[in-house]
Amino acid sequence: MSKSRDRAADQLNDFKKSQQNAPSMTTGTGAPVGDKLASLTVGPRGPLLLQDFVFTDEMAHFNRERIPERVVHAKGSGAFGYLEITHDITKYCKAKPFEYVGKKTPLAVRFSTVGGERGSADTARDPRGFAIKMYTEDGNWDLVGNNTPIFFIRDPMLFPSFIHTQKRNPVTNLKDPDMFWDFITLRPETSHQVSFLFSDRGTPDGFRHMNGYGSHTFKLVNQDGQPVYCKFHFKTDQGIKCLMGPEAAAMEGNEPDYATRDLYNAISTGNFPSWSLYIQVMTYEEAERFRWNPFDLTKVWPQGEYPLIPVGRMVLNRNPKNYFSEVEQIAFSPAHMIPGIEPSPDKMLQGRLFSYSDTHRHRLGSNYLQIPVNCPFNTKVRNYQRDGPQCVDDNQTGAPNYYPNSFSGPLDETRHCESQFTITGNVCRYNTKDEDNFSQVGIFWRKVLKPAERRRLVENMAGHLRNAQPFLQKRAVNNFSQADQEYGRMLQEELDKYNQSTSGLASQL
Ligand code: NDP
Repeated sequence: MSKSRDRAADQLNDFKKSQQNAPSMTTGTGAPVGDKLASLTVGPRGPLLLQDFVFTDEMAHFNRERIPERVVHAKGSGAFGYLEITHDITKYCKAKPFEYVGKKTPLAVRFSTVGGERGSADTARDPRGFAIKMYTEDGNWDLVGNNTPIFFIRDPMLFPSFIHTQKRNPVTNLKDPDMFWDFITLRPETSHQVSFLFSDRGTPDGFRHMNGYGSHTFKLVNQDGQPVYCKFHFKTDQGIKCLMGPEAAAMEGNEPDYATRDLYNAISTGNFPSWSLYIQVMTYEEAERFRWNPFDLTKVWPQGEYPLIPVGRMVLNRNPKNYFSEVEQIAFSPAHMIPGIEPSPDKMLQGRLFSYSDTHRHRLGSNYLQIPVNCPFNTKVRNYQRDGPQCVDDNQTGAPNYYPNSFSGPLDETRHCESQFTITGNVCRYNTKDEDNFSQVGIFWRKVLKPAERRRLVENMAGHLRNAQPFLQKRAVNNFSQADQEYGRMLQEELDKYNQSTSGLASQL
């Protein structure tokens, strides 16, 4: 099938085939429409009449078609499917999806780029969002991760500034390499994720050929109330495939919706993508002894020490029925947890527990959980929240709207309480800038990357860093040298090539 006539291109034909006859048209109020091709005017040349509801109804709605785009992860694609459990992990976790081997839990997934706007290219060098919403009998559980097991920073206080440096300069409205490299090099905890970003995996070949990670450390709690710490890994069953830097850059111009098209076509032709789910588990005692902070989002847990434990398989087998209603309006939040899954002290996770639900209340309104794709359809919401803009369900009819009450309103049950834990410490603002920023970067460079991958990493990085001012280039080389001397040396070598060719050019002018 040629690209111009693939399943994505044929969506309208597919719709037509699914219909017997075109239905009658109505206004938003359901009234039949007599003529939708001409406005109501006094004479053939106008003016218009304000009484033309067919026109004003449509025009006013059109004026309000856009909701605020996500401030990060604005461009994305979604799909639906299920998680099937293949291995028993009930000794660690009582959460509903893990109840028994063979259990299937319906889910929605949204993949995304991070920094670009809603119309930006899918192949940009950027982390990819990998967000999963599981519709369980205990409510919705969202695992809102990325295609990397780590992140740039470890304190959420830095998040808005960090994102500003990935976006546009407030005057020029251009991406600004000085902003980017200034922040990155002033906060060397970014070095690990920046190394991932400029490696081959910084430009995955679509969404199907990349891994997903819950990234944060979470807590799993079993039926006996015993907790362990945990990390989630979704490994692609399609195999890892990446675009090479120049190829990805060219596709930003000539095939900007590459990943969106690829996912839609795969699912609509029955080629359902899947990922194998694993967990890593760490006991509280091990966490005390671990040589790094196990809650530091800039670091991984070595798999040799904390091996991957198989859990299940996620399959995506349905495309959205409508992009706006099911993908643009889907609202993930790490705070959407269920009994058996709890937060760890990870500062970034703690910050996200607040910010995601907060941004959805701004973007979609305070009743965003009533939107069908966000609604926990495998259970029924019974609480004391009422009213608010766009309350579109039955608003819990005549049930009491206060608690406690004597009139059969919904009851809390202590068996669903979170696990207890003890915390002590001095209240302070702890600057985490110098918490071993380089040892895992060095391991990544030496142990994980092959020589050709190291070469491409420094080429990709130098191709971007060369656009920043010389003092920022120097600071970056100094940082990456602390991970590994060879890393810094090779990066400097690549930068020198650019700088020589620029000065050579200057001397010819
Ligand atoms: P392992 O050798 O046990 O694991 C290395 C991991 O690196 C594998 O999960 C592998 O994923 C992934 N990997 C392989 N090639 C690349 C690449 N080009 N870019 C990014 N990731 C890649 O080692 P450790 O667990 O001891 O970790 C060593 C280093 O590996 C870490 O410091 C970290 O930089 C990196 N890493 C670690 C992960 C973890 O959870 N421990 C996960 C991802 C990376 P795959 O099997 O899919 O190829």
